[in-house]
Amino acid sequence: MTKHILILPGDGIGPEITAEALKVLECVKARFGLAVEFDQALVGGSAIDAHGVPLPDETLDKARGADAILLGAVGGPKWDSLDMAIRPEKGLLGLRSGLQLFGNLRPAILYPQLAAASTLKPEVVSGLDILIVRELTGGIYFGQPRGVRTLENGERQGYNTYVYSESEIRRIGKVAFEAARKRGGKLCSVDKANVLEVTVLWREIMQEMAKDYPDVELSHMYVDNAAMQLVRAPKQFDVMVTGNMFGDILSDAAAMLTGSIGMLPSASLDENGKGMYEPCHGSAPDIAGQGIANPLATILSAAMMLRYSLAENEAADAIEAAVSRVLDQGLRTADIQSEGCQRVSTREMGDAVVAALA
Ligand code: NAD
Repeated sequence: MTKHILILPGDGIGPEITAEALKVLECVKARFGLAVEFDQALVGGSAIDAHGVPLPDETLDKARGADAILLGAVGGPKWDSLDMAIRPEKGLLGLRSGLQLFGNLRPAILYPQLAAASTLKPEVVSGLDILIVRELTGGIYFGQPRGVRTLENGERQGYNTYVYSESEIRRIGKVAFEAARKRGGKLCSVDKANVLEVTVLWREIMQEMAKDYPDVELSHMYVDNAAMQLVRAPKQFDVMVTGNMFGDILSDAAAMLTGSIGMLPSASLDENGKGMYEPCHGSAPDIAGQGIANPLATILSAAMMLRYSLAENEAADAIEAAVSRVLDQGLRTADIQSEGCQRVSTREMGDAVVAALA
């Protein structure tokens, strides 16, 4: 049966990098005889310009009907002064909540060829391969009530609510345990159970679930210590699972261990394995339109899409191997440029991956 892939280029460098990923997908489609079809739609600032809203109904309908979605990035200074309710980022949040994409998978892998790009010592990070599993549709970012109120004494007070229900914890726990089972068999659950009741419950449920995964070694760590350990000795981790806010912060820190945000893919999954795949970086308005953005994070996101939503592991492996080969050849976009390497444009990098696939 033909699988439908929706491509959402978005804003800034989004159209440049998704064009390269599409080229790579077309190449593996032909090589592996994949039964896939591609469609495109607007989201973010480009949708605001065309339709006045960041997530038009047509885009959400297409996303609901697709088997997987590949997104570039949204946002930019052009739309920064708009009301929060219709900013480009709302398009992304609308997709995540509209499609119930609660499970965010963010690998932080340091390609040995790029060990010098990290700000940490090569011996601390070389060979790094961590997967952070972040809950994406709950926790303090969505909890009610929220707002800014004025107290009786006239002082203003901002407030948010940190909530997780048992079912929300269990479904993200399942994603993390299953991922750990397929990797190194180690899962570290990150919480703040010494202070926050929500995370006392989180820890209890992870412990209960561990009984169903005897092949996975579960450990627990407070979030402050986890932040410290990520920069002190990151290779101690295999899979980490945590809530929305802690995951937001820790996954960015883990991303930077690898030196370039232009290399990092991500996946956001629903309960049935349908997902939206996107690079970890934003729309990079400072370099948009110059043809110098690194398309590899988006190309690697396409590989994750083939693996997690389409079960096309062979094609996914081939893309990842092609990326590694291109790095071996010494080809680098500006963000990962180092001495003795050949600097290439966004398009040349995409072409090189396609050539390496052939
Ligand atoms: P950013 O990730 O867009 O850029 C940070 C820095 O990294 C910039 O110097 C940029 O040039 C560089 N960079 C990012 N991606 C790169 C790539 N592929 N190749 C080479 N260099 C790259 O973050 P920002 O500047 O904080 O945000 C810019 C816009 O993106 C904002 O409007 C923000 O809201 C939006 N944003 C969107 C997403 C998303 O769509 N998922 C995520 C984060 C930020």
